[in-house]
Amino acid sequence: MSACTALPDAFLPARGQREVFCGLTGIVWLHRKIQDAFFLVVGSRTCAHLLQSAAGVMIFAEPRFATAIIEERDLAGRADADAELDRVVAALLARRPDIRLLFLVGSCPSEVIKLDLGRAAARLDRSCAPGVRVLSWSGSGIETTFTEGEDACLAALVPELPAAAGDAAPSLLVAGALAEVVEDQMARLFAAIGIAPVRFLPPRRATALPPVGPQTRVLLAQPWLAATARALGERGAKVIPAPFPLGAEGTQLWLAAAAAAFGIAPARVVQVTAPAMARAQQALAPHRARLAGQRVFLFPDSQIEVPLARFLARELGMAPVEIGTPYLHRFHLAPELALLGEGAPVREDQDVERQLDRCRAARPDLVVCGLGLANPLEAEGMATKWSIELVFTPIQGFEQAGDLAHLFARPLDRRARLRV
Ligand code: SF4
Repeated sequence: MSACTALPDAFLPARGQREVFCGLTGIVWLHRKIQDAFFLVVGSRTCAHLLQSAAGVMIFAEPRFATAIIEERDLAGRADADAELDRVVAALLARRPDIRLLFLVGSCPSEVIKLDLGRAAARLDRSCAPGVRVLSWSGSGIETTFTEGEDACLAALVPELPAAAGDAAPSLLVAGALAEVVEDQMARLFAAIGIAPVRFLPPRRATALPPVGPQTRVLLAQPWLAATARALGERGAKVIPAPFPLGAEGTQLWLAAAAAAFGIAPARVVQVTAPAMARAQQALAPHRARLAGQRVFLFPDSQIEVPLARFLARELGMAPVEIGTPYLHRFHLAPELALLGEGAPVREDQDVERQLDRCRAARPDLVVCGLGLANPLEAEGMATKWSIELVFTPIQGFEQAGDLAHLFARPLDRRARLRV
């Protein structure tokens, strides 16, 4: 109690109504990453619609996700859902022999909650072995915010990772899905700095899972991986405290934290990254001129809000009025909070009505929020940025710093043009 009462009000979590996508949304970016995996959502027509509209209808490509719709009649017990699931999986694997890893993804309709997906996955894993692994995770909208889907998926993968040899040299594991272009840039930078071997989770192929053990050092690429980090810790790996690679400064500090864990001096990181740092700062300059001094209000949505606010404040000179985050992981975000400085208006908050009241009272220049809030706030005369774009767009790293800043300049420019 004394620890709780010592916290400033803004750090006390608030709970209430919230407006966020569910964890199934993570499939939209995860299915592009693990190229021999398939995501079979066990859900309702609503789940199928969400995925179709979020991922777009892929007419020319074979999508790597689908929804097995559990009908209401199953709820009444007139169909054996397990047998139906086995039939769907068998048909899928017969049609798609390229699948090496099948995720059964749980959802929140009551007929799905009644199913024991973990047990179904274990049963199917046995019957599909050795060619296909079958795992399960939940993307249910009841208990998750949308980026927790990735966390649940990666946490489900961790027990499958092979054990690193006992005498293995230290290795770096970058955890969190990054766009391939970003991953390739980071791999080149790690190599130039002298960090090796470096592996990524999720891997591009399920048949190339990275080994993990006490010599593994984990660098989180995304701030929403609490369960994954915990699972990796249980395998003996150690998380490197670091800010997240947003913006020029964030990327350099992220690389420097990894380098320090491998005994490499910060000067080496500065030397290797100098050209990319200069390009990033040049790309940021016009946006800084446009955005400096603008007041920004971040609704809690993806959990990227704290690193993002640090970037907006320190590299673009914006003034955060409120930095809402659905969950605040104090250990993983400690380096970010230190950069933001004492008194930063961070709130761990999921109470949308109160957030809206504070936002309306503050009248910020820019609001970063979910899709459901953007249109009403635009109608009230506020400029908004859809926070989901920050998850679907490659924004990490030096080369993307200018694009990231541009995402925030665009809504303000649009409003300015509409006013003329
Ligand atoms: S999991 Fe729940 S919240 Fe998500 S789409 Fe399906 S029904 Fe909707």
